[in-house]
Amino acid sequence: MVDHREIRVPFIPGDGIGPELMAVARRVVDAALDRSTKGAVTIKWEELLAGETAFKATGEYLPAGTLEAIKLRGVALKGPLTTPIGGGIRSLNVAIRQALDLYSSVRPVRYFEGVPSPVKEPGKLNVVIFRENTEDVYKGIEWRRGSKEAKDVIDFLRSSMGVELPEDSGIGLKPMSEYASKRLVRAAIKHAIKKGLKTVTMVHKGNIMKFTEGAFRDWGYELAEREFPDAVARETDLNGQGPGARIVINDRIADNMFQQILTRPDEYSVLATPNLNGDYLADACAAQVGGLGLAPGANIGDSIATFEAVHGTAPKYAGKDLANPCSLILSGSMMLEHLGFDSANRLIIKGIERTLGEGLLTYDLARLVGSRSIGTTEFGREVIARLG
Ligand code: NAP
Repeated sequence: MVDHREIRVPFIPGDGIGPELMAVARRVVDAALDRSTKGAVTIKWEELLAGETAFKATGEYLPAGTLEAIKLRGVALKGPLTTPIGGGIRSLNVAIRQALDLYSSVRPVRYFEGVPSPVKEPGKLNVVIFRENTEDVYKGIEWRRGSKEAKDVIDFLRSSMGVELPEDSGIGLKPMSEYASKRLVRAAIKHAIKKGLKTVTMVHKGNIMKFTEGAFRDWGYELAEREFPDAVARETDLNGQGPGARIVINDRIADNMFQQILTRPDEYSVLATPNLNGDYLADACAAQVGGLGLAPGANIGDSIATFEAVHGTAPKYAGKDLANPCSLILSGSMMLEHLGFDSANRLIIKGIERTLGEGLLTYDLARLVGSRSIGTTEFGREVIARLG
């Protein structure tokens, strides 16, 4: 008799289109796991509260119990959450990432045959973006124009630093530390080694912001040379020679990167970025291969990881069974790989490749090619029918 194992996985259905996408994503994940383990492993899903549903039930957008449960299980699948308008939490997503120290935002971007794209050769783009998730201007240290804090900072800069700023300035801080920059670049290099990828590129505006983004680049090189001397070679040290089996580590200024990812996408495989650059770059890359409805994402720390669709709650489509579930299905697939079920992950990718490749598209993609669309639930059924 085959031993049966049950693993517990928390999930947050999310707001807007979240619950309908989550229902489909969970079905696909269950089916792939069942098929790849021949029924030996199943997931016991544990629903957690966050967002508008949580607020209605508990008066809080992010109950402490939700964070505790994710800490306990070490993993969660998360639907999109509405950002509360007004005071309190700036963004629930940022709050979860900071509370659990999920310091790498990991966004794989690849092309699926059959998906309409705005570029001529979308298949040339296949990158994984590692975006620092805890610092930079996203730290949320900012003060409104005219506030006491803004005035105090302006006075301090004038009196102690000799820096003059207009009195009507809003003020924001951009902290970037050696520790956080290095652990992000370390995660990116480890990923490249694990997956046998050829390059790790640090994307920064160090030419302008020398002590934050420039330091990010310098710390990254320092870490690569000290911790991975045999696995990694610096592009500028190669002198036109091939890197052999080593991974090439290089850096690109962010504006240059935005044009190279369009003109020479196949020269890049892992992009390591500070928080804000990564935010822009990940969506720009996703647009090249068909848009946000297809892009999966993960937020990974040392012992905890959450997997989530990168799009938002798209409230106008909520409850209509129309939205594209690929992003959340592929996030679930990344979660399976993270949990050690890579064959289930590969089954799902195959299922999505076949479904999209046969022209079965949800409204967002079908409208671009003028074909008939299928709904969220039907798309999930078609993927399950094509697993592996
Ligand atoms: P959004 O929810 O991502 O939706 C913007 C548009 O993107 C939609 O109107 C739709 O385009 C398209 N879209 C998004 N998801 C789609 C899907 N699965 N299938 C097909 N099309 C999809 O962005 P938003 O309207 O700016 O944000 C709405 C709320 O979500 C806000 O409260 C925001 O803060 C929150 N949000 C949450 C997360 C998160 O939880 N990770 C991320 C981003 C935003 P068309 O109208 O062209 O069809």
